[in-house]
Amino acid sequence: MITANPLAAKPVRWQMLWRDAIRDPLELLDVLGLGHLGERLGAQASQAFPLRVPRGFVARMRHGDPHDPLLRQVLPLREEELAVAGFGVDAVGDLTASEGAGVLHKYRGRALLIATGSCAIHCRYCFRRHFPYAEHTAASGQWASALATLAADPSLCEVLLSGGDPLALGTGKLAQLTDSLRAISHVRRLRIHTRLPVVLPERVDAPLLAWLRQLPWQKVVVIHANHPHEIDDAVLSACAQLRTAGATVLNQAVLLKGINDSADTLVALSERLFEGGVLPYYLHQLDRVQGAAHFEVDDARALALHHELAARLPGYLLPRLVREVAGAPSKLPVSAPN
Ligand SMILES: *Cc1c(COP(=O)(O)O)cnc(C)c1O
Ligand code: SF4
Repeated sequence: MITANPLAAKPVRWQMLWRDAIRDPLELLDVLGLGHLGERLGAQASQAFPLRVPRGFVARMRHGDPHDPLLRQVLPLREEELAVAGFGVDAVGDLTASEGAGVLHKYRGRALLIATGSCAIHCRYCFRRHFPYAEHTAASGQWASALATLAADPSLCEVLLSGGDPLALGTGKLAQLTDSLRAISHVRRLRIHTRLPVVLPERVDAPLLAWLRQLPWQKVVVIHANHPHEIDDAVLSACAQLRTAGATVLNQAVLLKGINDSADTLVALSERLFEGGVLPYYLHQLDRVQGAAHFEVDDARALALHHELAARLPGYLLPRLVREVAGAPSKLPVSAPN
C-alpha cells in the first residue's frame, strides 16, 4: 500500500515482534543449543502445522534442555505423525456446531466468534491445528454476518471472542466489532479468549487498554498458560493492566504429559497466576486431536493430580478439571473411570 505519510503505515511494536517470531525448527533448536535434536523433528507435522513461536517466549525456555516444558509445547516432533485410534481432526464437534460466518453456538446464553485463524504461537496439542480457518472467520466482511446472528437471538447475552487468537486482530478491527455490538441490547458480557498476554505481552499496549476500558459491558479475559515458566514479569504486568482496565482475568490450561502433569508444577502455576491477580478457571483434559496423542494424561492420573491440588491449594486457586465432549451442554467435569 502506498500512503502519503510513511509513518502511518509503520506497524506497531507488537506487530513487529509478531512478525519476527521463529518459524524454522532448526533455528529454534540452534538458539537453544539443541542442534542434535534435529533428527527428531517431524517434517510432515511441520508442514501441516508449521512451527511458530515469538522470540520473547523462547527467551523463557531453558538453554540446552530438550525437555523444557515451553519448548515441548511448540516443537514439531515425529511422534505427531503416528496415527492413533480415537484421535481425529474434529475432536470437539466444531465443524458441526458452526452456524457459518465464524459463529459457534454450543452453550446456552453464549456464542463464540472465531474472530481470526491466526495465532502468535502454534501449540502442538491444539485442536485448531486441523480447523479450516479460512472459511470460518467472523471478522471478514466487517463482522456483518456474525453481528446478524447475534442480533437475531435475544438469548445470547455473552459474546466470546476466540480463534485462533482474537487479539491477533488490530485494535481498530476489534473496535469495529464492539462499536456495532453496542446496538444489540441483549449483550451484557464480552469475553476474550487469548494466549497473547502470555506469549507476546507487548500486545497489551496503551491502545488496547484504552479500547477495553471504555466498553460498556462486563469484561472477561481468559488467558492460557500451562506452566509457571511461561509467566515472567512482563506477563504479570500485562495481566495486572488488563484488570486495571476493568476486566476479570482468568486462566485456562491444558493438562499435558511431560509438560505440566505434576502437582508441584500445577500448584506453582496457580500461585504464579495469582501474583498477577489471575484466577485459574479450567484445567482441560486434552482434546483428542490427531497428532497430540503423546500429550494425553489418562483420567485416573488426571483425577489423582486434581485431588492433590485440592489438598494443597485454597479453593479459589483450584481450576476445574474438565473435558469438552461433542454435543454436551457444557464442558464436563472429569469423573472417575468405572
Ligand atoms: C468452551 C466454549 C465456550 C465457553 O464455555 P464456558 O464454560 O462458558 O467457559 C463457549 N462456546 C463454545 C463453543 C465453547 O467451545
Ligand atoms: S488457538 Fe490457542 S492453543 Fe491453539 S494454537 Fe492458537 S494460541 Fe495455541
